[in-house]
Amino acid sequence: MSAFLNKTSDGKKMVDKVFKAAVAANKAKAKYGDEVVDATLGTLFDEDGVFVAFESVWSTYETIDKIQKAKYASSIQGNPEFNEAVYNWLFSNLNIDIPCEIIATPGGAGAISSTMKNILNPGQTVIKPSQGWGPYKTMAKECGLTLTDYNMFKDNMFDLVDFKETLTEVMKKQGKVLVIINDPCHNPTGYTLTNNEWNQIISFVNELSNKGPVIILNDIAYVDYTNTGSSWKKHFERYNSLNKNVMIVIAFSCSKTFTAYGARVGAQVVLTKDTVQLENFKNAAIYSARSIWSTVNNSAMKLFSTVMNDKNLKESYLKEKQYYVDLLKERAEIFVNEANEVGLEIYPHIEGFFVTIKVTDNEEKESLNLKLQDNNIFTVEVDGGLRVAICSVSRRKLKGLAKKIKTIM
Ligand code: PLP
Repeated sequence: MSAFLNKTSDGKKMVDKVFKAAVAANKAKAKYGDEVVDATLGTLFDEDGVFVAFESVWSTYETIDKIQKAKYASSIQGNPEFNEAVYNWLFSNLNIDIPCEIIATPGGAGAISSTMKNILNPGQTVIKPSQGWGPYKTMAKECGLTLTDYNMFKDNMFDLVDFKETLTEVMKKQGKVLVIINDPCHNPTGYTLTNNEWNQIISFVNELSNKGPVIILNDIAYVDYTNTGSSWKKHFERYNSLNKNVMIVIAFSCSKTFTAYGARVGAQVVLTKDTVQLENFKNAAIYSARSIWSTVNNSAMKLFSTVMNDKNLKESYLKEKQYYVDLLKERAEIFVNEANEVGLEIYPHIEGFFVTIKVTDNEEKESLNLKLQDNNIFTVEVDGGLRVAICSVSRRKLKGLAKKIKTIM
């Protein structure tokens, strides 16, 4: 029998574990109210359980002219003031000595999927972390790509050996490597690579690039929530030392940076010493943009450049955001310290929105998740564990949570 859908799309069905868990949590909240611990959503909530929309950002939005909001963006590549503001937000006060192009995208998701689409041929393999953001998988499938993982941790440290082996294998197989590194504040563990680990990654990819092109997709969705503040961005200077056969695509997103998840704005920030390839990549990315989503949200781009280019607004924004960075740190300390005390095994956590409980057996993971739900605790099943979104749970509710989970286990 013939089908309406083509062969690759027939049977596609999105099962988003985060939204599924959130729906279950909402049902429980309607019945049990404040008893429920909803640690499902990767968006910031304050200590009273209210969704955080930064005042400094969203009151500025109200000042944007209606015509600006209604109009198309001024360029498919992104409004020039936006692209410049992104460059400055990431690289100002740094010595970035490598050619760069910026293409605006609908969020980090747009940046990541467009990169997969334009870097690899259908049938080729993209490399992702063993614990990682779920949509990496669906995006790869959408582009007709297969996936392979590098193991994130061994003996509670980043597993550099497996990272190198995986990239070497893929290079051997297809003569080219595209690898996703979600750093800092990795989703779902909250791990951030050390300076030494990054240095080793850079020297390894330089060496590997003698065998073929290497593209690192550095997903920095949570870059503005590191405990080290803007000094983490010094990391970008490492990219100065890349060989010509290496390209970096930084996937930047305003979703977390600005609490602007629904505004759908982000960027591909592309760096390589190969200026011909850089131009080719930019052209392909613009072509994809026009063919898939056309232009990016005009008023959201305007919002970003307005806040970033006004000294006072930027200061109040930074102050407001810092409050939540500090709050996340306190929340993490409560959960992580208690987990260590009661022997609840978690993946290495440094900072960010999430902590993940280690449960490697899938059946065990599903059954634990259900048991937790019976006790009004809602987490998200991820590869190798259960994700606790500390970004959305108050300190009050986090106190005693690790102990309770351990007892239920
Ligand atoms: N990367 C990671 C690891 C994420 O967790 C998210 C959002 O949850 C994104 C990228 C992209 O988000 P958006 O498309 O909203 O910018």
